[in-house]
Amino acid sequence: MKAELPAVTFPGGRQVPALGLGTWHMGESGSSPAEEAASLRAGLDLGMTLIDTAEMYADGGAETVVGEAIRGRRDGVFVVSKVLPYNASRTGTVAACEASLKRLGTDHIELYLLHWRGNHPLAETVEAFETLKAQGKIGAWGVSNFDQDDMVELLDVAEPARPLANQVLYNLARRGIEYDLLRWSQVQGVPIMAYSPLDEGRLVGHPVLEEIGRIHHASSAQVALAFLLTKPGVIAIPKSGSPERVRENFRASEIRLTSEDLRILDEAFPPPTRKRPLEMI
Ligand code: NDP
Repeated sequence: MKAELPAVTFPGGRQVPALGLGTWHMGESGSSPAEEAASLRAGLDLGMTLIDTAEMYADGGAETVVGEAIRGRRDGVFVVSKVLPYNASRTGTVAACEASLKRLGTDHIELYLLHWRGNHPLAETVEAFETLKAQGKIGAWGVSNFDQDDMVELLDVAEPARPLANQVLYNLARRGIEYDLLRWSQVQGVPIMAYSPLDEGRLVGHPVLEEIGRIHHASSAQVALAFLLTKPGVIAIPKSGSPERVRENFRASEIRLTSEDLRILDEAFPPPTRKRPLEMI
């Protein structure tokens, strides 16, 4: 029997699994697009139905891999893509989205994000997002790499429209958002998408995670993901180009970390005690 993935509810009521699929570095030269698409399909089969991509990744190559993975099974998949800040003008955002739709082989993107803050005024980007929404090309919009002060400014600029999510760097080794942004987002009802949940693979093999993993018959990667799954309103999006590792990551949802596990993790990866500027990759 398939284990149930925990879910996160977006404002408006749409639910997505708290464990999705990343795609950075997919579709690059030297990679295997067929294996990568197979990995994404392995995740979809298990209910990891949220796929995160961006026009930036492999210059659109990752979106092409996603298009291949969702061909013939578009229903029920929640596609997230992102516009580069340089393209995020009123007209540039619309053009970028249309190019992404073509590469994805679909007529809509469920969630479209501003990849990080650039020079185009937020009001212009939001206006373009709202146009795309009215045209049915995106279901909702959000942002990425926004710290709390950026979010406060965005809410003010966008009013009465609102971002659906904020995607930021968050994993055991990068817990800065626990000082402020995480709680603020939970109170505001804006889910956090935790990118690089394995710290780009650096958490794999960490001795403390291995030790906790031994108790749960789990791998270090699974423990790192299980930690994020304890946080309400957080969606982790690990990337793997291997179907086997995608299945391994999925089984993180079966681990129930105890308060003693969490204490040991806090000791090894201390939570922040003061404000740190938002880290980004
Ligand atoms: P992750 O923390 O997801 O780590 C990915 C690395 O870990 C890959 O090298 C992968 O290798 C390896 N890996 C995955 N699962 C396992 C496992 N079970 N055991 C051992 N190794 C494993 O890093 P990412 O930076 O890719 O972050 C995830 C996603 O977040 C990205 O793909 C992207 O979609 C998004 N992102 C967004 C950013 C933003 O600015 N908004 C910035 C960075 C990422 P392999 O593929 O060989 O399995």
